[in-house]
Amino acid sequence: MNRILLLLFFVLFISSSLFAQEDRPGYTDTPLIPGSQWRVHDKARPQPGKVTPGQGDLLQQPPSDAIILFDGSSLDRWSGADEAKKREGITNGAFNIIVTGQLTTLEEFGDCQLHIEWMTSEEKQDRMNWGNSGVFLLGCIEVQILESHDSFIYADGNAGAIYGQHPPLVNPARRPGQWQSFDIIFTAPKIENGKQVRPACLTVFYNGVLVQNHSEALGKSTHREVPIPLDVEKGPIMLQDHGSTVLFRNIWIRRLDMN
Ligand code: MG
Repeated sequence: MNRILLLLFFVLFISSSLFAQEDRPGYTDTPLIPGSQWRVHDKARPQPGKVTPGQGDLLQQPPSDAIILFDGSSLDRWSGADEAKKREGITNGAFNIIVTGQLTTLEEFGDCQLHIEWMTSEEKQDRMNWGNSGVFLLGCIEVQILESHDSFIYADGNAGAIYGQHPPLVNPARRPGQWQSFDIIFTAPKIENGKQVRPACLTVFYNGVLVQNHSEALGKSTHREVPIPLDVEKGPIMLQDHGSTVLFRNIWIRRLDMN
């Protein structure tokens, strides 16, 4: 009898660990990230530990030298949507990227400090599409936006990741339906004769918590591939439309120009 019970426990243990492996999102057949032991979107890469961010309103008012990219009333500094879509997308001082579609700043930026606030939907969705958006520096390096409190994907794809390269150091996600913030300090890459001689670097605070500490972005963010080397030192800020409801408010940027 004892043997049968033991066997039963063993079978349950094996099947539950197999299920856990299966449930773990990610890949085992993608290329290694240069300079890393991990593959792109590696299934085995550890998930960041959870940290509860400070409470209260994250609204951070722009300093006097900031360029206001969105103050709650107008998307005049953005292209990608026609005027009707821009108006339709804004409600109560925030805009919904699924309504406006992908947006790109009219101006280009190199070194900069960017503040942006975003909110994912409380309505549960497929984990790849639950609050999926992203802030793209130079229009091509993605700091991931994704519902990462009640859901998760591969480590280098959760909110605060440099997509496909650097998972966030920790996961300070707030619940879906709450406002969250990124404060991004971006150091542009160095390009000589069209070739990248120094990578871009990003420091990111997510809900006030450091999640990227001068992380090197080797190139343009891609899915399942290694980053593509950069060929520009300046570019627009792009906000991704991934077919998910994501609200944005209070977006401002400061030029740093450290090169
Ligand atoms: Mg994204």
